[in-house]
Amino acid sequence: MADIWQQTLNWQPNSQQQSQFQHLYELILQGNQKLNLTRITEPEEFWEKHLWDSLRGVAQLLGDSSQSPNGKKISLIDIGTGAGFPGIPVAIAVRESTITLLDSTQKKMQFIQQILPELGLNNVTTITGRVEEIGQNHKYREQYDVALIRAVGNASACAEYALPLIEKGGLAIIYRGNWSTDETTALASAVKQLGGVIEHIEQFTTPLTHSIRHCLYLKKVANTPVKFPRAVGIPSHKPL
Ligand code: SAM
Repeated sequence: MADIWQQTLNWQPNSQQQSQFQHLYELILQGNQKLNLTRITEPEEFWEKHLWDSLRGVAQLLGDSSQSPNGKKISLIDIGTGAGFPGIPVAIAVRESTITLLDSTQKKMQFIQQILPELGLNNVTTITGRVEEIGQNHKYREQYDVALIRAVGNASACAEYALPLIEKGGLAIIYRGNWSTDETTALASAVKQLGGVIEHIEQFTTPLTHSIRHCLYLKKVANTPVKFPRAVGIPSHKPL
């Protein structure tokens, strides 16, 4: 896949990163025998939907020195990481970063904690918990440069989960399938209440199956009011 990486993301994994991707694939297949981690198990589908898609959202960080404006390593959080996507491929590809993987499902997080040393990843930490509670905990609130969130509910809830966790000036990246201008209008009002703006929306086509995908890039421009995120379950059931 080296040519496709290069043509689509202007980046390609080195040999260590290639073997880490291969190892990740094998570990996920093994884990799937016991846990319901993912339905995506065919090699090409895994490459496109789990590896390529994860990295497409952070294309601007690939090949960079990945430092935040204050010169520190860039810090990311992946909210609702499940089996580790997009966070683990990002941790492999963007070595000059620290990544926190967060999910409320204990079994998935135990699986991730087991595979991190096998993948040789020492730039990753994990949190087991509900993001609504983590976002209200001062240890985590406004601590990250970038929040990633894929397949964790409607976009407004994703914004409510992500924006409290990032610093002012930071970025929330929401991975979506289809997306429309009407949805942008509705999301803009929610994002404004949370102290953010929709910086841009990228549409792209995946390289193997030519599916349409979107990434929404939200910039935090003001502090998020303390009432957000609301209590567990409210952001998804009563979206802003
Ligand atoms: N992001 C992964 C991906 O794209 O493959 C997993 C997506 S999976 C459909 C959604 C994950 O979000 C599940 O693992 C679930 O436990 C987690 N999740 C949902 N709501 C959450 C919440 N409020 N706090 C923490 N994790 C949550």
